[in-house]
Formats: sequence, C-alpha cells, structure tokens
Amino acid sequence: MCFQDKSLQCSDCGATFTFSAEEQEFFQSKGFTNEPKRCPSCHTARKTKRYGDGDYSYRSRSWQQMFRLNFYQVLDDPNSN
Ligand SMILES: [Zn+2]
Repeated sequence: MCFQDKSLQCSDCGATFTFSAEEQEFFQSKGFTNEPKRCPSCHTARKTKRYGDGDYSYRSRSWQQMFRLNFYQVLDDPNSN
C-alpha cells in the first residue's frame, strides 16, 4: 500500500495540517481507520487543559512524538468529536 501526504483540517481551529505518509502508515499498522481530527497544537492545548501544567513529560517530547501519542489519544478519547 502506498501512502501520500495528506492535508487535513483541524476541527478546532480550522488550520490545515499534514497527515504524512509515514504517519498514515503508522496509523494503519495500529489498525486505526480514523484520521486525526485536530492539529498538533490543538491536541497539545487540550491535553494541557485536561492535565494541568504538571505533566512535564508531554512538554519535553518532540512534535512528532507528541503527534504519535495523540494518535492513540484521539482515538481513545470519547470527547474527541
Ligand atoms: Zn487546531
């Protein structure tokens, strides 16, 4: 299967962000069929809001690590819609 970078629109701020081929492949390898609904910065904002400022582990992660973590979180999050 061949993936191509895809532009998605954030459901929170309306910004366009890239769902890269690599990320799509990662997604599929996990058996996920949904696409991320929010841009990385909105994901981060939501997590910061939910967990407060105490979670330094999130902040010290790279953008890509953050994005991948959020792949799980958005799918597991009942409030993500
Ligand atoms: Zn956004």
